[in-house]
Amino acid sequence: MLSVAEAWARIRAELRPLPIERVSVSDADGRVLAEPVVSGRDLPPCDNSAMDGFAVRAADVPGTLSVRGVSAAGDAPDSELAAGAAMRIMTGAPVPRGADAVVMREDADDQGERVAFAETARPGQHIRRAGEDVAHGRRVLEPGAALGPGEIGLLAALGVADVPVFRRPRVAILSTGDELVDVDVEPGPGQIVNSNAYALAAAVREAGGVPVPAGIARDQLDDAVARIEQALDADVLVSSGGVSVGDYDVVKEAFERCGVELGFWKVAMKPGKPLAFGVKDGTPVFGLPGNPVSSMVVFELFGRPALRVLQGAREQDVLRPRVPVTLAVDHPKKPGRAHFVRVRIERDGAELRALPTGDQGSGRTMSMVGVDALVEVPADSGPVAAGTPLTAWLLRAV
Ligand code: AMP
Ligand code: MG
Repeated sequence: MLSVAEAWARIRAELRPLPIERVSVSDADGRVLAEPVVSGRDLPPCDNSAMDGFAVRAADVPGTLSVRGVSAAGDAPDSELAAGAAMRIMTGAPVPRGADAVVMREDADDQGERVAFAETARPGQHIRRAGEDVAHGRRVLEPGAALGPGEIGLLAALGVADVPVFRRPRVAILSTGDELVDVDVEPGPGQIVNSNAYALAAAVREAGGVPVPAGIARDQLDDAVARIEQALDADVLVSSGGVSVGDYDVVKEAFERCGVELGFWKVAMKPGKPLAFGVKDGTPVFGLPGNPVSSMVVFELFGRPALRVLQGAREQDVLRPRVPVTLAVDHPKKPGRAHFVRVRIERDGAELRALPTGDQGSGRTMSMVGVDALVEVPADSGPVAAGTPLTAWLLRAV
């Protein structure tokens, strides 16, 4: 059976970033930049004041100067400071020609027509130089940059109204099972709600993808084939259920009928041993297990990073951050499969303590509530005692 790392390496090898599209800078947060950005401007555009105060010639102070004129934010930068004078100046206003320092208001004795300065001034003080933040022609952002508030602000300051980003993957979400009904239907005898479709749609969105509901396939080959064929229009297909060895598990065969080249269908992990992964004409196809916990954990470990790669994320932004933790309780285990224990994280001084979220059965939806991290217990490990150092994949900041 493949290890988790080997399975990811095989999936990774099949993935390429999606084509580039241009989006408004207002809609670009959470996206990945696809081309370098070179500044077409100086930032700031002209020498300007970092303080409210007085523009002076440094050589004129200390001393008392006559106040001539005012430079306010938004003024055109062509005023001139008369010899032996000071000009009132506001934060962000152009520094007048002739001035080489700004004295803050708090350090000036403002007498209206005149102003007295008791201290010396250093040439250049409180002046923000044209281009000191960003010089015209500088490469400020590289492809793969994750666009957040800081990057968006910079792009807007540079006048970049449209940003080239990688397209978000459209992810078809197909459920399989005769027992499944929609959330607004009262389940009859033997029926359950198709909760995987909702959980996986949320996980797709969290990974930057666009979920496309593909409905419920019944446990018959023909129905599964028909729905898979339709769903293959998307950039990625994610199905859940029907990949195990039960009498009605038709998904693997349906994938093959649809021309999906299956790479593998078992990974040495718990929860979630059955995972069918394949490719059809470049479209990655994930056949996740049906158990709610298994489908979410398998999506988290393989589907989410795949969606990050399709969005052009840098290698360091593809997998979750991994941190050392200690497990707070004993964990029973046999060597063979890697376990992914759902935990909450508590800080204990400099240490992170991992507390399992209750019963770890793959049908236990409560174990996925309030999860901060997945603790990986290596495949070859036997039972682990409380306090054992392990690695956690952080699903959110703790
Ligand atoms: P399967 O892999 O199809 O044998 O399903 C394994 C378990 O997961 C069974 O208990 C199913 O009822 C359950 N299951 C399968 N698909 C879903 C789904 N979409 N939503 C909730 N539970 C599901
Ligand atoms: Mg089933």
